Amino acid sequence: MAFWTRRTFVSSTLAAAGTLSAAARGYAQRAGTGRTAVNANRIDVHQHLLPPEFVAALDKHGMSAWAPFSWSAEGAIAMMDEQQIATGILSLSTPGPNLGDDAEGRVLTKQVNERLADLVKAKPDRFGMFASVPLPDIDGSLEAIRHAYDDLGTDGVVLLTNTRGMYLGDPAFEPVMAELNRRKAVILIHPGPLPGPPIKGIHPSLADFCLDTTRAAISLVSNGVPRRYPQLRMILAHAGGFVPYAAYRISSLSNVINPNVDAQAMLEDLSSFYFDTALSGSPTVLPSLLPFAKPGHVLYGSDWPYSPNKTVGFFTGNLDAYKGLDSAGHAALNRKNGEALFPRLAKYTSAAKVTG
Ligand SMILES: [Zn+2]
Repeated sequence: MAFWTRRTFVSSTLAAAGTLSAAARGYAQRAGTGRTAVNANRIDVHQHLLPPEFVAALDKHGMSAWAPFSWSAEGAIAMMDEQQIATGILSLSTPGPNLGDDAEGRVLTKQVNERLADLVKAKPDRFGMFASVPLPDIDGSLEAIRHAYDDLGTDGVVLLTNTRGMYLGDPAFEPVMAELNRRKAVILIHPGPLPGPPIKGIHPSLADFCLDTTRAAISLVSNGVPRRYPQLRMILAHAGGFVPYAAYRISSLSNVINPNVDAQAMLEDLSSFYFDTALSGSPTVLPSLLPFAKPGHVLYGSDWPYSPNKTVGFFTGNLDAYKGLDSAGHAALNRKNGEALFPRLAKYTSAAKVTG
């Protein structure tokens, strides 16, 4: 099936806007008017690249539906200038570099990570990188982490929420989480399809991806990963899926199911994640996300190019217009919180050319 097409995704976003309540519709119509004259200089922690090696591998495995866009650095920079994004921290999206053959996955991982490093080297102010790892291949992943940190100077690592049905808290991944903790890694946790067939007529990106992220968060917390590895800075994509909205339900019911679970501790652990705003700058997500996240833990995200320019503009405009944050709060979300995770970016104070 075609997982992504530009036309259907833009249409569905606009259709969703058309079904909002009158109040929310008025809010949506103001999208973009909240832009300030000051360059937001955003640090975008959720932006993708589709390098030719990845596209070729997907084609070879009959998975080309995962790569419907042609990507270029120039296109990325044009979008970033339009959206006042100073720096995009680029990552490979689902299904990641291991498409079923571990040996092939190791080669593709190395190619992708070296391409990312070349992009960052050429434009260190505009691009950063989350290195990929070829999970579930543990030894290959450990070597990819070593290469990414020791040889390529990566800004962090992207991990998929689940790999062939194994979620990130699975004990099988323990060596990888331990090594990332030793590296004090910033990790983007990125969703994909749920293990199991998608429902006909409901595109996986509409709800499945959000559930996938929520499952990963529960898996990590239930298996004690954030407490065992406190040096990890883990970013949940898309405002954490359903985590902020459902956190009290998740923690309370976990205690009902297993009385040994401390509901308050689980709630605390769920709020210890970082969260990006990709596809989430909306009047229904932000009032749940912002009070739930710890101070400094909400980061700007675009999800470009899977979220096309128009859609990025819609959500970014809504985010900028959101009155629940004061100007300092917007500045923190757009940039300061990102600088805290990626200190090397602090010196690039006005990288974006404002064209819009
Ligand atoms: Zn994404």
